[in-house]
Amino acid sequence: MRKTNTDNEKQTALVTGGAGFIGSHLCRELMNRGRKVICLDNFLTGKRSHVEDLLDRDDFSLVEADVVDPFCFEADEIYHLACPASPVHYREDPLYTAKVCFLGALHALELAEKTGAKVLLTSTSEVYGEPEIHPQPESYHGNVNPIGPRACYDEGKRIAETLFFDAWRTKDIDIRVVRIFNTYGPCMEANDGRIVSNFITQALQGRDITIYGDGTQTRSFCYVEDTVRALLCMMGSDQTGPVNIGNPEERTVLSAAREILKQTGSESRLVYHALPTDDPTRRRPDISLAKESLGWEPRITFEEGIQRTIRWFSRQTQRS
Ligand code: NAD
Ligand code: UDP
Repeated sequence: MRKTNTDNEKQTALVTGGAGFIGSHLCRELMNRGRKVICLDNFLTGKRSHVEDLLDRDDFSLVEADVVDPFCFEADEIYHLACPASPVHYREDPLYTAKVCFLGALHALELAEKTGAKVLLTSTSEVYGEPEIHPQPESYHGNVNPIGPRACYDEGKRIAETLFFDAWRTKDIDIRVVRIFNTYGPCMEANDGRIVSNFITQALQGRDITIYGDGTQTRSFCYVEDTVRALLCMMGSDQTGPVNIGNPEERTVLSAAREILKQTGSESRLVYHALPTDDPTRRRPDISLAKESLGWEPRITFEEGIQRTIRWFSRQTQRS
């Protein structure tokens, strides 16, 4: 049974992983757009403080729960984000990561089946592994090492996509699947080990900038506001996906470091470390499908997004 909204009652959105980096921006934007929001999180990497400003609003509730256990809420839309997401965190307990990917997706789908809600999965560019096709279109099936240290997450997201598409085919569940490429912005954790948070905190504190490998590997960086707008466009569309969401501007790790050094005015040195196993050499989304079917493309340039992110990290440093 799919849900259709016929009355003027506010729509309710359940956001799993809502106290995390992308989730907290999504909760805020959903509230801005007049939704009731239930934010579910186990605070593995997320923080209550990320949604502190929403806590006293009547239309917002925060629930502490783990998606490895079934969950049940009345909602029209389920945004399923809950998952350890940075390499540092997902490799800490790989068996748990794989469990969250599988059971979390299964439980989100079971709730959608019970309530008729639409359900969106935030999958990842990691499903493409070390890509042999560049840029990566959604039709590319990827090149993932199934037994490497990143596999708990990469394969975890791949099985989550499988569950979503099987549920759509066999149970007519109203699914949406997006594959998010590197997203950055305010509310990233300083210690999550990701490139942007590491480089900005290192630059602001005058510590060495840790370049893994020779820094020629590439990523495509999307500002969080653009990513959140894409999630909302996707939920509002009839597109099941998978749809790539990311900024097609590709840059090397070294060039990201140089931009951050320039904007912070930092004199930190670049210091080279070993490249982690299976670290993809290049990454750039083909976003033709997002443009055509959602009318979406990113608006914030890397320079602008990095400026806003540096400003946020500077304020955090001054507060602590
Ligand atoms: P994040 O770590 O900030 O957010 C994840 C949130 O999920 C955290 O609040 C965490 O506490 C919560 N969580 C983790 N396991 C949970 C569990 N078992 N039960 C309940 N809550 C749990 O990471 P993020 O960057 O905001 O990522 C959000 C989603 O987007 C993830 O699904 C991630 O895989 C996906 N994604 C992010 C990026 C990116 O570049 N940020 C890229 C691709 C995909
Ligand atoms: N990286 C780096 N130094 C750091 C953190 C990351 O050189 O301090 C590199 C990392 O090896 C990878 C890229 O930056 O090539 C993006 O890493 P991140 O962990 O942010 O995301 P992912 O590898 O999942 O795309």
